[in-house]
Amino acid sequence: MTIVYESFPVGPLQCNCTVLGDSESGRGYIFDPGGNPERIMEAVEKLGLRIEALVHTHAHLDHFLAAGRIRSQTDARICLQQDDKFLWDSLETQCAMFGLPYEPVPDPDHWLEHDEPLSCGGGICIHTPGHTPGSMSFYFENEELLIAGDTLFQNSVGRTDLPGGDTGKLVDSIQTRLYSLDDETTVITGHGPSTSIGHEIRNNPFVTARG
Ligand SMILES: [Zn+2]
Repeated sequence: MTIVYESFPVGPLQCNCTVLGDSESGRGYIFDPGGNPERIMEAVEKLGLRIEALVHTHAHLDHFLAAGRIRSQTDARICLQQDDKFLWDSLETQCAMFGLPYEPVPDPDHWLEHDEPLSCGGGICIHTPGHTPGSMSFYFENEELLIAGDTLFQNSVGRTDLPGGDTGKLVDSIQTRLYSLDDETTVITGHGPSTSIGHEIRNNPFVTARG
C-alpha cells in the first residue's frame, strides 16, 4: 500500500480539502469537498485515483459545497457521522445565512462509526464530538497522518458556539482521542496550516495535555 494525497484550500471559506488514496489499488477518498469541484477533480486525476467516497468531517456548509456536483460525476458514496444529520438537513439554511448559493446535495449514503476502518489507505474513523456532535477525525497510522476537520487547529480549536457545539466534549475529544496519537503525527486541519500532535500538546493554549 502506498498512500498518496494532496491537501488544499477550497471554497469561499477556504476549507482544507484532502484527496487521499492508495496508488497501488487506485482507491481513493475525498475528505471535505468544500468547493471548487474542478480543482478537486484535477487532484483526483493527477493522483490517478478512483473516488469511492466523499467523507465529511462534519456538516458545516463550508465542508460540503462541492459534494453534490462530485457525487453526480462519480459513484462516490457520501459519508457522515449520524449525529450531524440535523446539520446536513439545514445546509440550505446555513448557505442562506452566509449569503452563499446552495448546491443541492442528496442525503448521506453511509453513516460513519467510531473506530470504523476506511476501505482505503488503512485509515480509521475517530469520533471527536465538540465542534459539532458528529465531528469525525480520520487517522492513517502507517502514514502518521490525521485529518482533524474543525476539531483541532494550529494553536487553536474549533468554535463551540454554533448549534450542537459543546466545549467540554471538544476538550475531552482532543485530550483522550487526539493527544493520545503519536507526537509525530501530522495534523491536516479544517482551515489554515497543518500542525502536529506534539506541537499542539506543547503549545495549544486552549487544550493542554491531560494530567
Ligand atoms: Zn465547522
